[in-house]
Amino acid sequence: KTHGENDTHFCFYSPELDLKLKHYMQLRKELHKILHDSAFYVVYQPKVCLNNGKVIGAEVLFRLRSNPNRAPFELLEVAEESGQIIRLGQSVIEMTFSQMKPYVRRFPDNFRISVNISPRQFKDEGFIPFLDNISKKTGFPLNRLDIEITETSQMTGSDVLERNRQWMEEKGITVTLDDFGTGFASLEYLLHFGFDQIKIDRQFIKRLPEDDESRSIVTTMVYLAKQFGMTIVAEGIELDSQEVCLRDLGIEYGQGFLYSRGIEMDEFLSLVEFVDIETNDKPAVNE
Ligand code: C2E
Ligand code: MG
Ligand code: MG
Ligand code: MG
Repeated sequence: KTHGENDTHFCFYSPELDLKLKHYMQLRKELHKILHDSAFYVVYQPKVCLNNGKVIGAEVLFRLRSNPNRAPFELLEVAEESGQIIRLGQSVIEMTFSQMKPYVRRFPDNFRISVNISPRQFKDEGFIPFLDNISKKTGFPLNRLDIEITETSQMTGSDVLERNRQWMEEKGITVTLDDFGTGFASLEYLLHFGFDQIKIDRQFIKRLPEDDESRSIVTTMVYLAKQFGMTIVAEGIELDSQEVCLRDLGIEYGQGFLYSRGIEMDEFLSLVEFVDIETNDKPAVNE
């Protein structure tokens, strides 16, 4: 029933599939509208230094205006499949750069803003021109940007990918391997790609401090990060006891509900220890 004129294969009609397709098309339309109407915003989840509690950056997370509590997962999945993820990524970056620009000069040392980027976008021809452009347009310097990507098989063997990575390095953009331990990355890949940071997935954090296996895994990851010259951050820290355990195991940075959920710009900025800068462009006093 469902095959069209140009199909070379036959499919069997399945009401279940039909429903799924309808749902998919509906979400796709919804997302189109959301992006078109800018019916979304971003929140910032602080990343903290486990040794002194200072905020050293934030991860930017996508939220819907209509329902901030709706997990973006389903829409992101659809965006990924339909290709709308590129547009979404661009919108998130533009919003983030515009919001952070006025404060970036007073960011503490090593302070960075992390955005989640789909591998599809990371290896897109248009990504570099876009970043270059939007950085110039908004005035947000690229050496304050960190890009989080998840492990996927899409992240190998592409010339564009290599070139994009190279360009980012030149511009001082760092790249973090997100949800580390859950996916595809081989050691060879890790070494070759040259990640600046790995982020340990929450699944290895949530059973700490009691679970021996989790502790062993985290210990191994710390060792690995050291060998490869990468910094390491743990996601999903919810308990004091987890923080203590992770610090003891040698983790430098952490993120999680223990510190803060994703919060709006003003609240996030109130947590940052901005540095004073010499300003030569102060207005003259006696004029
Ligand atoms: P992620 O990059 O691993 O982001 C962390 C997710 O874990 C966020 O969920 C965050 O709210 C949640 N989280 C943080 N701390 C804790 C904690 O202590 N406990 C628990 N249980 N959860 C915690 P969120 O915002 O629902 O995002 C889910 C995923 O959607 C993200 O996973 C990321 O892969 C993706 N995502 C979010 N925003 C964007 C975006 O702007 N672009 C793209 N491409 N993906 C995004
Ligand atoms: Mg992330
Ligand atoms: Mg993650
Ligand atoms: Mg995760």
